[in-house]
Amino acid sequence: MMLRRTKILATLGPATDQPGVLEGLFHAGVDVVRLNFSHGSAQDHINRANAVRELSRKTGRLVGILADLQGPKIRIARFKNGSVFLNEGQDFALDINLDENEGDHSQVGITYEPLALEVKPGSRLLLDDGRIVLDVVSVDNMRVNCTVVVGGVLSNNKGINLLGGGLSAAALTDKDMEDIKTIAEIGADYVAISFPRSADDLHKARRLLREAGCEAGIVAKVERAEALKGLDAIILASDAIMVARGDLGVEIGDANLPAVQKHMIKRTRELNRVAITATQMMESMIDNPIPTRAEVFDVANAVYDGTDAIMLSAETASGKYPIKAVEAMHRICIEAEKQPSVRVSDHRVSIQFERVDEAIAMSAMYMANHTKIAGIAALTESGSTVLWMSRISSGIPIFAFSSHQKTLGRVTLYRGVFPVYFTHEAQDHAEVNREIIDQLKKYQNVKDGDKFIITKGDLTGVQGGTNALKVFTVGQGLTP
Ligand code: PEP
Repeated sequence: MMLRRTKILATLGPATDQPGVLEGLFHAGVDVVRLNFSHGSAQDHINRANAVRELSRKTGRLVGILADLQGPKIRIARFKNGSVFLNEGQDFALDINLDENEGDHSQVGITYEPLALEVKPGSRLLLDDGRIVLDVVSVDNMRVNCTVVVGGVLSNNKGINLLGGGLSAAALTDKDMEDIKTIAEIGADYVAISFPRSADDLHKARRLLREAGCEAGIVAKVERAEALKGLDAIILASDAIMVARGDLGVEIGDANLPAVQKHMIKRTRELNRVAITATQMMESMIDNPIPTRAEVFDVANAVYDGTDAIMLSAETASGKYPIKAVEAMHRICIEAEKQPSVRVSDHRVSIQFERVDEAIAMSAMYMANHTKIAGIAALTESGSTVLWMSRISSGIPIFAFSSHQKTLGRVTLYRGVFPVYFTHEAQDHAEVNREIIDQLKKYQNVKDGDKFIITKGDLTGVQGGTNALKVFTVGQGLTP
């Protein structure tokens, strides 16, 4: 299969539990799977993670695992009859003191106690991803009285957002803390933190994850309006950022999303972090075997914006065509990546580098983009070298050669980087180079005359030790 730089992240669920579907996703080129802890039991997620690890072993293709915590999604309670129909202009109240199962046409319970303190007359509440709109008229003790601005069917446990943001729920719930134990057991490569408000939420999440024995990289899902105010600090506190367009679009308004997506991806790359673009990318493929033209453009535009990964949610978790959705994303990315604009870079040309390994990584990319080079083989311990390299736009594949599963798992999300498990006994440089070429042959067509860049350190096993950049030509003797 043609090497695609943009990574495809697919959510697992009942649809991918069907016989042969996970194999189909592997074959179609999925790079990372998402276990969504908002749905399913711990055992469901353990079973899915085991199936992914097993297939990675069987196929020799490492697929990363991202575990997505539910977080403090604020929800209404339940109705006596499961749902109600709200008419425009009618009164409707959210009441903390109402029994959780006693909702009706005029009121419903809510478990988020601070709501009555955090809204005021004039506040606008968006329910069910904005399908239902309520304006707050008055707050009476623990009861929030509203007028229905946009009505329709409202059913049990639907989410609530406050337009403009400002609800203060802390990022990790008791359920998240329980789920973290399962995630540590699974050995996920990434954990996504839902609804962080600030960098502090992410520092705290990192500490709690490490205390639970979880070594995963941290993904901040940017889905609250207030997260945009401290965006740089949130990016720096994380390993990756998710443009979580579902909730974020509800809080800031859908029309603001395109500019925010472009800014977030650009800033994330500038700060040497990884960007994921998520939600509704192939929404119509939940029911149809081909995407709409608008969805084709959305995927291609995310590639032009420089995203590392694009995500599928219900399209793969519960849709009718999970494999076709991955195949469609693959073919759109391959074409989008041919655009000259995504292969050139002036990123960081005026920067003074303090670290030798970082300077080597940048030199390799400068050379790769300005000489005829077939690929880069980076021998890496922690993966920092390939992270720096992959922040530079380029059409040249970067192969991360490492013996560390943790590093190989992390790079599954980096644009243009392909994990290669590699250990070597040989001390002789020429022999090591020969082994590298043998590995590269598994990933691309290697022929005499092709030039490859190798970056490595004098001493293997030392983090930050990359101090050499070598170019060699296949078939012309692999000298030390
Ligand atoms: C989103 O809101 O865009 C998102 C990715 O969150 P989730 O799928 O967890 O609701």
